[in-house]
Amino acid sequence: MARFRWLNHSISKQMASLVSHPDEVKVVSRRFGEGAADLDRYLALDGYKAVQNALGMDADAIINEVKSSGLRGRGGAGFSTGMKWSFVPKQSAKPKYVLCNGDESEPGTCKDRLIFEQDPHSVIEGVMIAALAVGAASGYIYIRGEYRYLSVIMQKAIRDAYARGFLGTNIFGSGRNLDIFWHGGAGAYEVGEESALMESLEGKRGIPRIRPPFPAVVGLWGGPTVINNAETLASVPHIILGGAEWFAGLGTPKNGGTRLFCLSGNLAKPGVYELPMGYNLRKMIYEVGGGIPGGRQLKAVVPGGSSTPCLTADEVDINMDFDSVAKAGSMLGSGGVVVIDDAQCIVKFALRTMKFYRHESCGWCIPCREGTDWLEKTLTRFHRGGGVKKDIDNMQYLSENMLGRTFCPLGDAAAMPTIAFVKKFRKEFEDHLEGKPCPYEKQAAVEELPVLA
Ligand code: SF4
Repeated sequence: MARFRWLNHSISKQMASLVSHPDEVKVVSRRFGEGAADLDRYLALDGYKAVQNALGMDADAIINEVKSSGLRGRGGAGFSTGMKWSFVPKQSAKPKYVLCNGDESEPGTCKDRLIFEQDPHSVIEGVMIAALAVGAASGYIYIRGEYRYLSVIMQKAIRDAYARGFLGTNIFGSGRNLDIFWHGGAGAYEVGEESALMESLEGKRGIPRIRPPFPAVVGLWGGPTVINNAETLASVPHIILGGAEWFAGLGTPKNGGTRLFCLSGNLAKPGVYELPMGYNLRKMIYEVGGGIPGGRQLKAVVPGGSSTPCLTADEVDINMDFDSVAKAGSMLGSGGVVVIDDAQCIVKFALRTMKFYRHESCGWCIPCREGTDWLEKTLTRFHRGGGVKKDIDNMQYLSENMLGRTFCPLGDAAAMPTIAFVKKFRKEFEDHLEGKPCPYEKQAAVEELPVLA
């Protein structure tokens, strides 16, 4: 079997690093490879100009600019960023907060990692502009526990910004005060969910909160809170400098700007590429990603990280924006495009995906805790040739009954890919039934399969 690799933190730095393609439009990645983690270099590359512009704008003008840019959350949900900011009440008895979600944990995704590594000040600047827009005086940058070396980079960037008077009291001589703090996670996928992240930041167990109330009204320590993904916030300074119209024009209607796509799996040139929103998926695979090596054929693509339903080889003529991918029955998610060739066993792929979700389930709600465990056990038995025909329908039935019945999206994240795998590759599941050996297993034994995330 050809070696299959998810692109995430455990893959070599080189793979996730500074690849490029002529179709790229470098906005968020504009300073990658330019030494911009150094503050002087960042300043020489227009750093901290956007926040100074924003200091001269009123809060509504900033929000309207971001709204008009068509920027939608890059963490996965794809909600309008400007709209999210507008939900924060103008008056609040409690302090307001801005929270950067850098708990990047979705298998197949490693873009925020590059931003923290290559351009940490852009995240700080994005948090600052968001704080000006919603009237917050404090911001937090929460970084995934496994990204320890990035925490060092980010802490230095924050210290440097304080040393120059960009953070703290009277920032840029404006009379405004703004503090930003770094916080490291402890290694839990679940904490990528915004309310679980707030719990974690408050020093509690990272499990989700019941909503409503939503964070924009009752968030961190009970105060109104804006939570955005790191790529989302890193896009904001570019919008303030380049203008909403320019940014919106880079993408498709209602899907402004560019996206850092993380291409992994069976590709000749895996890596993180910044492409306009709406870029064609087939071109992304065959031109940007260099196609599938070894003369093998495309079997499936997971378009937005491991939690998104797969697309078959016949379904890849789509534009990679939130609305088009949703129309095709999947999600743009976190931008992790995982390519699966015809030497891979879909049952095994589904099993490895489920192992991850079973491991990451916090165990709070029954459909997720029991469902992921049951699905992992069934898929394991199935893949070993011990499956029976009714297992196929049972997996489908169980997954459908997990959907929408859990406190946080992890239950859906585990169920959705399983439903798609079973529905779209039923024949492959049938080929494993009742003692039949996995058709791919002989080759699979030759190569060690990597551990997920
Ligand atoms: Fe925990 Fe899973 Fe329930 Fe989320 S869906 S709260 S991870 S048990």
